[in-house]
Amino acid sequence: MPKPWGPTTIAIHAGRHCNPTRAVITPIFQTSVFQLLENREGAEFSASVEPPTFYTRWGNPNASEAEAVLAELEGAERALVTASGMAAIALVFEAFLKNGDHLVAPAAIYLGTEQLIRRWEAERGLKVTWVQNTLDLGEWEAAIRPQTRLLWVETPSNPTLALTDLAAVAGLAKRHGIRTVADNTFPSPIHTKPLAFGIDLSVASATKYLGGHSDLVAGVLAGRDADVVACWHLAKLLGPTLDPMAAWLLMRGLKTLALRVRRASDNAQALAQWLLWQPHVARVDYPGLPTHPGHEIALRQMEKGFGAMVGFELRAGLAAGQRFCEALEVITRGVSLGGVESLIQHPASMSHLKTPPEVKDRLGITDGLLRFSVGIEDQPDLIADLEQGFQAAAAIR
Ligand code: PLP
Repeated sequence: MPKPWGPTTIAIHAGRHCNPTRAVITPIFQTSVFQLLENREGAEFSASVEPPTFYTRWGNPNASEAEAVLAELEGAERALVTASGMAAIALVFEAFLKNGDHLVAPAAIYLGTEQLIRRWEAERGLKVTWVQNTLDLGEWEAAIRPQTRLLWVETPSNPTLALTDLAAVAGLAKRHGIRTVADNTFPSPIHTKPLAFGIDLSVASATKYLGGHSDLVAGVLAGRDADVVACWHLAKLLGPTLDPMAAWLLMRGLKTLALRVRRASDNAQALAQWLLWQPHVARVDYPGLPTHPGHEIALRQMEKGFGAMVGFELRAGLAAGQRFCEALEVITRGVSLGGVESLIQHPASMSHLKTPPEVKDRLGITDGLLRFSVGIEDQPDLIADLEQGFQAAAAIR
């Protein structure tokens, strides 16, 4: 068979060696512990890295299978699956930051990561420089200090869909001997492989596109063997292991990753273009639109589409955003993203209602902003639903 395989062949076949049975689909190894055939095995397994048949906090065939596939999809030496995306992010912080270190991160960033950084700042003396305009390489460079240990990237970012030039930032960090991490949740490895641009570690919420059916919570980190093993040692001690059932569901979702992601991205591209022409819309944020300030970068570092997250701003602001969501039937109100179903959220009245105004400004959250995770439904049904939303919002002037 020709290698390298395409993403769907990888997803279906790259983890096969992790299945110790003859079943075509790996069974769920819903067990906390495995039988040791000799005493010697106990000693060997306890001293080895991620033995898959020892004790499930250390490893499990279902986790190993998902990791084999994810490593291959990300072009990484190794991957580790975790109990959530935040667990993967927290492990990277624990593994590669010490008290008093300096971190560079984009100002517009996933709220959970932002809160973790704030905790490290308050309790562990972490120094942080927030990059306001991620397109400005000069701002990244100016942020670097002798104590900088980590450069964090999220591209496209949640929720503002800001782009960052991965190759440029990775090159800059390498010149200063700084480790780089990209949160690859939004594009998934179907659209972007951060390691191919020189980024050291790719992390993601596998709850989103990788799982793809909004039925599990999981995370992944992928990179060089030594880096991932360092995180595994911590995972073994701190305990955010992915449960076998969730790992199995993740594998089931991964097999259709490329199909789902491409269909959702095609929908998103069409809807973003349609939204541009709607009179109640002040702005559309989508990296696939030539009007997006990061479009040139997206063309260079995203392949086969620009993702399925669309941001758009209603002219009439807060009340219109609320009304819009209430009027939808197909598109479901919810805070997550990346499932087969379309989800919408209005950060100003939902996830960021209690966020202080200065933080909202920094994160780019405006009153009329809607964050739309476009699913794989039929386009005419999505458009008809959005039209209902606009009619309801039109009542607010
Ligand atoms: N990173 C990004 C960009 C996210 O959007 C999320 C969740 O929404 C996470 C990380 C955290 O993932 P999880 O909810 O699986 O812990």
